[in-house]
Amino acid sequence: MSQNTPAKSSAPATANASDTVKPSNFLRQIIESDLEKGTYATRRWAGSPGDAAHHAAGQPDPAKIRTRFPPEPNGYLHIGHAKSICLNFGLARDYGGVCHLRFDDTNPEKEDTEYVNSIIDAVKWLGFDWNGAPDAPAYQASDYFDFMYRAAEHLIEAGHAYVDEQTPEQMRINRGDFGKAGVDSPFRTRTPAENLARFREMRDGKHEDGSMVLRAKIDMASPNINMRDPAIYRIRRATHHNTGDKWCIYPMYTFAHPIEDALEQITHSICTLEFEDQRPFYDWLMERLIEGGLLSAPPPKQYEFARLNLTYVITSKRKLAQLVNENKVNGWDDPRMPTIVGLRRRGYTPESLRLFAERIGVTKSDSWIDYSTLEGCLREDLEVKAHRGMAVLNPVKLVLTNWDDLMGADHLEPCTQPALPHPPEGVEPPPPRHFTIGKEVWIEREDFEEVPPKGYKRLFPGNKVRLKGGYVIECTGCTKDADGKITEVLATVVPDTKSGTPGSDLVKVKAAITWVGVANGVNAEVRLYDRLFSDAQPDAGGKDFLECLNPNSLKVVTAIVEPSLANALPGQNFQFERHGYFVADRVDHVQGTKPVFNLAVGLKDSWGK
Ligand code: ATP
Ligand code: MG
Repeated sequence: MSQNTPAKSSAPATANASDTVKPSNFLRQIIESDLEKGTYATRRWAGSPGDAAHHAAGQPDPAKIRTRFPPEPNGYLHIGHAKSICLNFGLARDYGGVCHLRFDDTNPEKEDTEYVNSIIDAVKWLGFDWNGAPDAPAYQASDYFDFMYRAAEHLIEAGHAYVDEQTPEQMRINRGDFGKAGVDSPFRTRTPAENLARFREMRDGKHEDGSMVLRAKIDMASPNINMRDPAIYRIRRATHHNTGDKWCIYPMYTFAHPIEDALEQITHSICTLEFEDQRPFYDWLMERLIEGGLLSAPPPKQYEFARLNLTYVITSKRKLAQLVNENKVNGWDDPRMPTIVGLRRRGYTPESLRLFAERIGVTKSDSWIDYSTLEGCLREDLEVKAHRGMAVLNPVKLVLTNWDDLMGADHLEPCTQPALPHPPEGVEPPPPRHFTIGKEVWIEREDFEEVPPKGYKRLFPGNKVRLKGGYVIECTGCTKDADGKITEVLATVVPDTKSGTPGSDLVKVKAAITWVGVANGVNAEVRLYDRLFSDAQPDAGGKDFLECLNPNSLKVVTAIVEPSLANALPGQNFQFERHGYFVADRVDHVQGTKPVFNLAVGLKDSWGK
C-alpha cells in the first residue's frame, strides 16, 4: 500500500482567483501550456451549448478554459466524485475558466430525479457553482440527442458509419482480441444510402431492440479494440426521464460523451484512467465532425488521471447501493458511508474535503490513499474552528464531600471556559461557555482507579487533579454496590483553586479531567462510529466486501453533555475535550431537548495524560 504523493511543486501555479499557491501537477502544466500557446484563444461561446454555427455567432469565449463534471444520475456521489469535483471546479476557478455540471443521462433506464437533486446539493455544499453563474441550471446530455442523431447521419453519409445486423454474439467473435485482428462484418460494405435508410428505420421503430446497431467504420485490425468499429447507436425501447418516448434509439456512451464536451466548448475533458483506451476514438470522432462542419475547432481534449482508492472504503455506486438495499447501513446518508451525504452527516466539512482533494493531488498511476489522510484533513480543519465542550461518555458520579460545608448546601458555582481557545488570526473569539459546578459532577469511569497502574495521574485515593475549568480536588475513595461495581467516586474540593481566580494554580496537579455538573448536564445519545469495513481493501482481489463488514462499526452510548452542547444546532461541529470531534446529527438531533451526536474523528492523542 503506498501513499500517493502530490506532484512536485516545481513551477508556482499562475492562480489568479485562489487564496494559496497550489502545488503543480500534470494537468496544471497542460493547462498552463495551453494558455501560453493560446490553444483555445480563438474559441467562441454563444452563451449556451451548441454546434459550430451556434457558437460562430457568439462572442469570443470569456472563459479561458472549460472543464466539466459529468455524473450519471444513478446514485449518490461519493468521496471519489468529491476528488473529481474539486479537481474540475478547482482548475476552472484557478485559471479563469468555467466548470460545467452536466448530467450524463444518455442511458434511459437508470436515472432518477432523487439523484439529480442530491448531486446538485453535493456540488453546492462542496462550495462550487457551475455553468458560469450561481444557480444556473445544470446541463443535460439528453438535451443533445437531436444533435447526436444528426452527427450519426453525417457519419453515415460521409461513409464513416454503417448499420450492422450481425447478432451480438457474431459481433463479439468478429471483434477479435488482443492477439487477433477482427473480421469485417458482412454489412460493412453497404452504401451510405442503404445505411441511412436502415438507420432511419431504426429510429422509426421498425426493428426490434438489439436486432442491429450503428457502428463507426474505422479499422477492424486496429491494435486498440475500441477502434474496431465501435457501436455508436443501439435500439432500446425505454422511456427517458427527459425525452420521454421520443426516441427508441440511444447513443452509446463513447459516442455521446465527446459530443457533449464539444457542444459545451469544453477545453480539458478530465476523466479517470479506465477511459484511456477510448481516447483515440474520442479524437477520431471530433476530427470527423469538425471536417463535416458540425463542430467547431479546436476540439476538446481528453486527459486521464488516477481514480481515488481509499483504504477501508468502497467507491462503487453499485456496491454502495447494495449496502443500502440490504440494510447493512441506514441509508445513503449513514455516517459510515463514503457518500458525500454520509460524510457530511458524519461531521466532514466542505473545507476538509477540499483540503483532502488538494493534498492527495492528481497522478497518472493508480495507488491507495490511506484513510488516515482523510481523517487528518478533518482534524486540521476542525482544530481551529470547532467549539469546545465537555461530554462524559461513560459516566460515574463524583461526590465532593466537603462542598456543602465549604460552599453552602445546594450551592451551584458558575464557571466559564472559552468556546475556542485559539481562534485563527483575525477571527473574533466566540462568546465563552457557561456551566455550573455543584456537590455532584459526572466524570469518566476511566478517570478513577482504586489501585492506580504505574504512571496513572488521574483520580485515585490521595491524588489531586483539576476538574477542567472548575476546582482542584483530592480523591478520598469510592463507594461500591454489592457486586463490587463502583457507584460513586469521593473527593474533597481544595479551597481557593477555582480556575481563573488569583492563586488558583498554586496547588500543582499532574492532570486535568473533563466533567459535567449533575445539576446542568443533559443526557445525549452519542453514536460512536468506526470503520465500516475491517479489511483495508474490502473489494480487492475478488473478495466479497459484505464479508468484510466491521461488526463494531457503530456503538451507541448515553453520554452527559454540558449545556452549550445540548444547545447545538443540527450539523454543528464540536470538539468534545479529550474525546474527539463530534457533530450534532443533522437528522435526529433536537436542540436543547434531545441532543444526538456523531463521532466524526478522534483526537490524535485522546488519552494523553
Ligand atoms: P461509479 O463507478 O461509482 O459508479 P462512475 O465513474 O460510474 O462511478 P459517474 O457518475 O460516471 O460515476 O462519475 C462522474 C465523474 O466522477 C466521472 O468523471 C468519473 O471519472 C469521476 N469519478 C468517479 N469515481 C471516481 C473516483 N473513485 N475517483 C476519482 N474520480 C471519480
Ligand atoms: Mg459511470
